[in-house]
Amino acid sequence: MLSFPQDLLERYEAQAPNYISYPSLDQFKAGFGPRHYAQALEHRRQSVLTRLKPLSVYVHLPFCENLCLFCNRNKIVTKRYSKSVAYLELIDQELKLQIEHLGVKPKVSQLHLTGGSPTYLHDSELERLVTILKSQTTFTPSVDMSLDIDPRTINFESLVTLHHLGFTRLNFCVQDCDISVQRAVHRLQDLDAIKTLIGHSRVLGFKCCSLELLYGLPKQTQQSFEATLACLIDISADRVTLCAYRHQPERYPSQRKIKEQDLPSSHLVLQFFNTAHTSLMRAGYEYIGLDLFSKKSDPLYVAKMRGSLHRNFLGFSAEPNTDLMALGMSGVGSIGTTYSQNATTLEEYRLFLERKQLPVVKGLALGRDDLVRKSIIMGLMCQGHVSFDAIEEAYLINFQAYFGHEMQQLKHLETQGLVQLTIKSLDVTELGHVLVRTIASIFDRYWTPAQTPSF
Ligand code: SF4
Repeated sequence: MLSFPQDLLERYEAQAPNYISYPSLDQFKAGFGPRHYAQALEHRRQSVLTRLKPLSVYVHLPFCENLCLFCNRNKIVTKRYSKSVAYLELIDQELKLQIEHLGVKPKVSQLHLTGGSPTYLHDSELERLVTILKSQTTFTPSVDMSLDIDPRTINFESLVTLHHLGFTRLNFCVQDCDISVQRAVHRLQDLDAIKTLIGHSRVLGFKCCSLELLYGLPKQTQQSFEATLACLIDISADRVTLCAYRHQPERYPSQRKIKEQDLPSSHLVLQFFNTAHTSLMRAGYEYIGLDLFSKKSDPLYVAKMRGSLHRNFLGFSAEPNTDLMALGMSGVGSIGTTYSQNATTLEEYRLFLERKQLPVVKGLALGRDDLVRKSIIMGLMCQGHVSFDAIEEAYLINFQAYFGHEMQQLKHLETQGLVQLTIKSLDVTELGHVLVRTIASIFDRYWTPAQTPSF
């Protein structure tokens, strides 16, 4: 068992960006709007190299039946189900607009539905959504289709529908199995029902079932957390995602209903991560990085071993790196060397589409320095390795000269056993793996000095 540098984890890792993009989402600028996004799509259309390459598509479906107090997602809690029917027509319009600018019917190699809660949609609505997507794009024969599942809103018939539609990966959002924790966050769910659903999923032939767990929730204790972990390990999912709960009541009003005295201490929260890391590794899981563990047979682990793992707004991915087209309110996408985000409220999103405008409200066009740093940060996050020669060749720079200040900081990290430096490369050690965001942040030009680690 590794002894984690608890002080560094507490001081830095909990605050550092999670690098689903570089620069991070908080650097997106309002000056980037529909016109810039249209240019990015048209640029792709004009490029012989990228025009025919498959895209990934991510659809944000914001609706939920009930409010979970911890939630920090962009969602609409409603029992007026007609709203989701109308929403799908907006998705249809947005996709048409994007494809007008793309100029070709794109191939899609990866589809992910998130939210909100995608399984808020009735089976017929999920069918309608897939019909919309398939009528305007071409799914590749091996398309990877996945979605987040709220286990309280799905039954055997819905699983059959999802399988029939071509979904291959299901991410069950479990969060916690303890009844006191579930009561404290207003999310009651029956563990036996979840086990039954996962059993059905395996019988139906879904390729991958993941479980998502939140640590740092109110009423979680070391004992209750270990019991939840034991339940999850018993289910033996292909992947386990361990997300840290961040208490930000000033930003998320529902979190104000969580009693501060019910929250575990920051020390205990890190202890939860250590416990989970140890238990999952003992149970045969491999640490992919950050919040993710998988079985050795999982494509994520295989990709990590081959050096082909990458990271985007959907998290770690074993699929080939592609442009990511986002659809729906607050959707975040990446086309070419740009990032973009859609309007974050339903009203604003609808207004854009009524005006026949792409609903983009902010984004970023990456400069050359951003691209160099992005390569390094993603190399650290996904492979734990950076080859200086490869960066020098790709970007025509002298690595040691370009990153003189960063190299000094890395030398301090080396003395703490977190990285290994040679004349040609930078490697994250096994100990450094749990601090990889902090290590990567050394190359982040935008992270404010107040947050910059001083090792
Ligand atoms: S946690 Fe999921 S189901 Fe609960 S409110 Fe948030 S998006 Fe909806």
